[in-house]
Amino acid sequence: LQQLTRKLIEVRNILKSVDHADDTLTLPSMVVIGSQSSGKSSVLEAIVGHEFLPKGSNMVTRRPIELTLVRTEPTRASRGTPVEYGEFPGLGLGRITDFRAVQKTLFDLNMAVPAAQCVSDEPIELRIHSPHVPDLTMIDLPGYVQIAGMDQPEELREKISTLCEKYIREPNIILAVCAADVDLANSPALRASRKVDPLGLRTIGVVTKLDLVPPEEGAAILRNNKYPLALGYVGVVCKGMTSAFRTSRGHDGVSGEGNVTRSVLQGENDYFSQHAEHYLAANVRGRNAGQAPLTGTETLRRRLMAVLEESMGSSLHGIANAVQIELEEAAYQFKVQYNDRSISAESYVAETMDALKARFKDLAAGFGKPEVRSLLRTAFDDKVMDILAQMYWTDARASELSQLADNKKLTAQDLDRYWQYKLDASTSALTKSGIGRLSTQLVADAVRAHIDGLASAEPFNHHPDAAERIAGFASAILRERFGITADQVENCVKPYKYEVEVEQVEWEDGRRRSIDLLDKELRMCDEALKRIQKAVGSKRLREAEAHVKSVEERSRKAALARLRAREGAADAADPATSDALLEESDPTQPHYNSALLAKARESTFLADRSAILKMRAAALRAKRCKTGGPEAKAFCPEAFLSVVADKLAYTSVMFINIELLAEFFYQFPREIDSHLIYDLGKEEISRFARENPDVRKHLDLQERKEKLEMVMEKLDALVKVYQEKQAPQRNS
Ligand code: GDP
Repeated sequence: LQQLTRKLIEVRNILKSVDHADDTLTLPSMVVIGSQSSGKSSVLEAIVGHEFLPKGSNMVTRRPIELTLVRTEPTRASRGTPVEYGEFPGLGLGRITDFRAVQKTLFDLNMAVPAAQCVSDEPIELRIHSPHVPDLTMIDLPGYVQIAGMDQPEELREKISTLCEKYIREPNIILAVCAADVDLANSPALRASRKVDPLGLRTIGVVTKLDLVPPEEGAAILRNNKYPLALGYVGVVCKGMTSAFRTSRGHDGVSGEGNVTRSVLQGENDYFSQHAEHYLAANVRGRNAGQAPLTGTETLRRRLMAVLEESMGSSLHGIANAVQIELEEAAYQFKVQYNDRSISAESYVAETMDALKARFKDLAAGFGKPEVRSLLRTAFDDKVMDILAQMYWTDARASELSQLADNKKLTAQDLDRYWQYKLDASTSALTKSGIGRLSTQLVADAVRAHIDGLASAEPFNHHPDAAERIAGFASAILRERFGITADQVENCVKPYKYEVEVEQVEWEDGRRRSIDLLDKELRMCDEALKRIQKAVGSKRLREAEAHVKSVEERSRKAALARLRAREGAADAADPATSDALLEESDPTQPHYNSALLAKARESTFLADRSAILKMRAAALRAKRCKTGGPEAKAFCPEAFLSVVADKLAYTSVMFINIELLAEFFYQFPREIDSHLIYDLGKEEISRFARENPDVRKHLDLQERKEKLEMVMEKLDALVKVYQEKQAPQRNS
């Protein structure tokens, strides 16, 4: 049956990692409770045969220690594999053959719980493999605090009780450790166990320090009359256990083991044989005649194994049924939710990266020369409109130019130098505005925005770190190429700073585009005007406009008068009089607030702008502009600037395409390959996949199902073994 317990311990450890809502999937374990200094550690170490628990006066057990003892074959030592070692499955420290190192690690893990927090619920998992241990699972808990002192506040008592309560629930077996020299009535361990197991059906009493009480008293305690437990009491003497280990440990910590155990047990044996009249069956008389109390560490070990085996055996059917139900539920959910489709973190990562690259390919295909050209032309057209607004539309002589264009006899040479100067200044404002940087920046920003779009779309919205890295790769490449590209473009548009030759087709194209732009601007202007009229009311707006006009007129006159006065002109009006003009207010006029006046000023401006735009659009549609030729550009600056803008965009695109885009589209996917996935370890891949909640759910359910299947298989085999073993017992 040893095998059964061992296999069930394995099953127990797997089940522990399957998250489950209730306790039906828990196989029993032994839980060791007792007050501080009751001898808990001494008992555990006697069972294990090693000193490995942390020692010290300052509450050294602050977390539960889940101890799994695994019996190994002694013969393996000869093949070079250590037969005795401890390992912490949660820490990945490997096999530790020096038990002082195990002790040190436990000490450090416990001390890492801050004193203020007192204790922590988070268990430390420790496995000990040895030919000298029975297959057992034991959980060592912090000792109950008897007297609250300075360094052990009342709150700690509470916390420890709560922690112990959590562990002594069904189906666990309680090992209640009590010192013989303390009245059992005062044992916190027994008190706690009685609360959850009043008949003592799953509590074993361990009475330590029997050597500290008279033997007849010790034997009486063990006889179990005062506080009866169905599983009974076992008495031990573990005195000097610790020092015995220390002195007789073999230099390799392994070979001396048999001696250690023997010498330790010897002391205990000696004690019980010295008091044989009380502890030996043959000597027990009266009511309990022939019934010896259970004594000794060896007896305790056997007792624990038997009880755990029995308990696990009787849990076997129940647990097998519970696992079967859980498994069916998990399998059903897996079928319904995922149609039995298995995934892995690796396949998810691969799919995600393929999808990213596919989308990137689409992006590269959809962001070629035509798209970039239209992007740049729109930006340059805006610039042209700004220049026109500044140079022409606010010019008081703007209408003059349109009228001159109507005069068919007039040639460009007849035009005032003024207009030639305006055209040159406007062209320079466009060609010398830093086209290289401007266009490179525009394209780089657009690429960045596209990549940001890729990196924030499903599924990357679940992977903010990866998204940030993707954006980072893009930025790095763009940054690296920026300077070269901007310089190249600037260099290549240089000729346009001196001369722009225009073909007839180009002219016609530019003219049409500039008409479209003016029409668009005109529409926006008129809409804005209408909005103001609607908001203020036409009549009120007209009055306010008139008021603004008259005030402006008066202030202009006043300024003129002041100027004349300063020049000392004899015929100047008295400055005082002209200032008064400004202040003079007409009582019949309604009062205008500043918001209304601002609206009036805006609408006046818009109306003027609208008139000019209409006039210019008409001029562009008229014969002179239509005909084109060198004649036309001074009369039709809009068309000319539009042509220049187009040439700039065309040239910029060619070089941006070579220097920036081609490089980017080549480098980016390689960067993704070599830096985003290939340097991910197994754990990182799993973490990445689990960032996506859908994938996490899928993986969780899948793993749960797989683990339950594995457990079920083991349990099925065990049930068979158990039944076979039970059958002959029942028959005999
Ligand atoms: P814990 O705090 O419950 O883990 O108790 P320990 O195992 O550390 O024991 C507390 C003290 O009691 C130590 O000094 C042990 O040496 C001593 N001790 C443990 N078992 C016995 C025993 O059977 N007899 C005697 N005389 N002392 C013991």
